[in-house]
Amino acid sequence: MNGLLDRLQNQFDNKTLLIGENIGEKYCADWSEVPAQKPIAVLRPTTTEQVSEMIRICYEWGQPVVTQGGMTGLAGAAIPRGDEIVLSLERMAGIEEIDTDSMCMTVLAGTSLELAQEAVLAEGFYLALDLGARGSCTIGGNVATNAGGSQVVRYGMTRNLVLGLEVVLADGRIISSLNKVIKNNTGYDLKQLFIGSEGTLGIVTRVVLKLHPRLPRTYTALCATADLGRAIAFFKQAQTELAGGVCAFEVMWASYYDFIVQHVEHIKNPFEQAYPIYVLLQYQGADNSVINNMFEEMLFSALEKGVLRNALIAQSNREADAFWQIRDGIGDVISSISPVVAFDISIPIKSMQVFVAEVEQQLKQELPDERCMLFGHIGDSNLHLAVRLSDANHRAAVSALVYQKVGQYQGSISAEHGIGMLKKKYLSLSRSAEEIALMKEIKQMFDPKQILNRGRIF
Ligand SMILES: Cc1cc2nc3c(=O)[nH]c(=O)nc-3n(C[C@H](O)[C@H](O)[C@H](O)COP(=O)(O)OP(=O)(O)OC[C@H]3O[C@@H](n4cnc5c(N)ncnc54)[C@H](O)[C@@H]3O)c2cc1C
Repeated sequence: MNGLLDRLQNQFDNKTLLIGENIGEKYCADWSEVPAQKPIAVLRPTTTEQVSEMIRICYEWGQPVVTQGGMTGLAGAAIPRGDEIVLSLERMAGIEEIDTDSMCMTVLAGTSLELAQEAVLAEGFYLALDLGARGSCTIGGNVATNAGGSQVVRYGMTRNLVLGLEVVLADGRIISSLNKVIKNNTGYDLKQLFIGSEGTLGIVTRVVLKLHPRLPRTYTALCATADLGRAIAFFKQAQTELAGGVCAFEVMWASYYDFIVQHVEHIKNPFEQAYPIYVLLQYQGADNSVINNMFEEMLFSALEKGVLRNALIAQSNREADAFWQIRDGIGDVISSISPVVAFDISIPIKSMQVFVAEVEQQLKQELPDERCMLFGHIGDSNLHLAVRLSDANHRAAVSALVYQKVGQYQGSISAEHGIGMLKKKYLSLSRSAEEIALMKEIKQMFDPKQILNRGRIF
């Protein structure tokens, strides 16, 4: 080990290689519940060639490496294990090009999502990826986790926005595939393997992202309905009558909504009455009376048909933000409701109602003191469940109960956050033995010495 550190110290200055007390806490923990750990060193490259050089040395020594972006991950994949060197992309940030003809941008992997979003807005375009961690998460991390967020129902996951990638492989080879065209059927689409691979197959250094036109107006409504069946009927109606243009469809059960409006000081409940289910609907389109009427008429018709019980249309951006604060309120309460176990799962929309009823019923029977809060993107089949534990020792039992049920309904144990370290033991509930074996073969081919993000995913 000392030999390797000596070698790295001979080659890189003390801004590029951090050791001992120079390793700050930010390299030791992400936002997951996986305990923090100090790596043996931190490498902070500034160019792809430097990434390649560093990885080549680590490969030669069989030294395990963990790649870090903004450390906002929720699956613990970027937290170093004690024997690992961190490779942080924090000094590889910046926008290289916004190509307004091809409608795409090229960015360095360490660029924050927010910086990329703002840069394209200024050029009249829209980067159709948004998540609560936008200020800290990086484009490289978004690609590695195939991040989702609130706009998936219209624009798809990160995978749908990536046109090209530059990646450094475990042995230091640079694969530059900075494709800008949408149609490109020239053999295997290699970039897809790296997207969502959680850093296990290569280090993403540059990304070409597809851009969309910036639409002039966002229409937002907070609605109330009687049950999940009606919320799903409303989703189908909204998609049909708004010509497939719904860009967010967030459902909040009373168990979540009531807790947030009662416990987060700056959040006001805009409804005077309580309802079983709330829906936050967002649509983007032209700013004219035709589109405005279309949005209002769709809501009136849903109210008339009894699909909705109430609906409030945001009259300003401020009001829209206030509606979103309720949906994002989980971030305000999460630390105060500990111990809590948070699930990020997908369930086919068709089975969602029965899934929720069965989980609630089983929890009541087997662990009657736990409190379940439900919310989710739903329009894209993603459900979030936060179970407040009466005893931290119940974590494993609650996890097993929920994940077994996900498996039973052919859902996914991770909708958008990834498997990382946290969900490894449940992977077989969502993927077959043959799929997992093939994934391991791919990993072995890309990284025969198993140096990149060892022990993540499986
Ligand atoms: C408040 C909050 C809200 C969130 N909301 C959402 C949401 O709505 N949807 C969603 O999908 N996620 C969400 N997340 C999770 C998180 O923000 C995403 O997973 C994000 O994509 C992680 O990016 P990062 O740069 O922070 O990656 P990190 O946490 O640093 O790393 C995550 C994984 O990516 C790998 N990695 C990072 N950079 C690279 C790279 N350049 N090359 C190869 N591998 C790399 C790491 O090794 C690790 O496996 C949220 C997190 C928080 C804290």
